[in-house]
Amino acid sequence: MSLLEIKNPDDAWIIHREEVDTLQDGICDIYVVLDAISRHCLEMETSKDLPSSSQILELIKKSCSKANTTPKKIYILKKDPLAEVVQAVCSELKITFEVATKKDLDPFISDFTNSFKQFKSGKNEVLDKNDDVSQEEIDAFIPETYGPCPCASGKKYRFCCQKAFKDITFAMCEAQDGHLDKALFYMKQAEDKIGLTAEILCRYAITWSFFDRKKTQEFLEKALVINPNHPRTNYILGIESVEKKDYQSAITYYQKAIDNYPIEDKFHLNETYNNLGTAYYKLKNYQMTKESWEKALVLLPSDKMVANNLFQCIYTNPVVPKELRTISPFIEKFIKKK
Ligand SMILES: [Zn+2]
Repeated sequence: MSLLEIKNPDDAWIIHREEVDTLQDGICDIYVVLDAISRHCLEMETSKDLPSSSQILELIKKSCSKANTTPKKIYILKKDPLAEVVQAVCSELKITFEVATKKDLDPFISDFTNSFKQFKSGKNEVLDKNDDVSQEEIDAFIPETYGPCPCASGKKYRFCCQKAFKDITFAMCEAQDGHLDKALFYMKQAEDKIGLTAEILCRYAITWSFFDRKKTQEFLEKALVINPNHPRTNYILGIESVEKKDYQSAITYYQKAIDNYPIEDKFHLNETYNNLGTAYYKLKNYQMTKESWEKALVLLPSDKMVANNLFQCIYTNPVVPKELRTISPFIEKFIKKK
């Protein structure tokens, strides 16, 4: 039975995870049990860390008594961090278990997620309102809660920088607006939450970059002491090198950032490949420019800027050797859409 064949009320339920940022406990997981047919929420469980298998067992049992039935099947998102736990609980309860893709589940959970979104404020709403930002870019920008942290600590985002996400975002905005005191206030809050990590030191460096470049340099050096491979620090050092017109150093820094960003972090990888390509372009290394920009486009196909750059500076640029002025086969499908 596939999701599309669900016809009877007790055919299938979906276990779905949302997260919410609470004042009291910070970010919490909310697991809900949804009836696939009525799309009603039967039960939910909120917990600071991922619920345990006994909590999930309890959640399903409560849903069964509320619905007065046991479902034939329970679906969960393939990438859900609790997929294995739910599978084990289902087998204990003799309920068929299956994972599904986001695309398959969306029609069944969209009502719930839409109403849920209205309760939430913050990054989603801000980004949703911005018409210039595609859904693809929003998805790429926000790290997966249980995916690897973009700071490359090796920890999951949830247990690393996510706790400081809001404070860091506020700090960056205040710094950009020229409010040093407010920016430092938010940075201190972020620091109190996750400690003086390479990521925090790097963010202090970015904060200071609007006010005092010497301080920026000091903080970048401190960040490298804690983690010489910290991707964002290397990325910023690449930008600093470009400003000094030292493109060779910039390439080294950008490459190090690329080597260390988690492969899932398409947003930052796209950004860094973009800059890497530009540094190569300054050195008239068109082969590497093309390679870098094409990789950037594959990572984020909606990136119009890099597509334009490829056209103007490579594919149609008479200065570029003729054999390089071709669209690589793997890139064609992204270019033709334009
Ligand atoms: Zn982190």
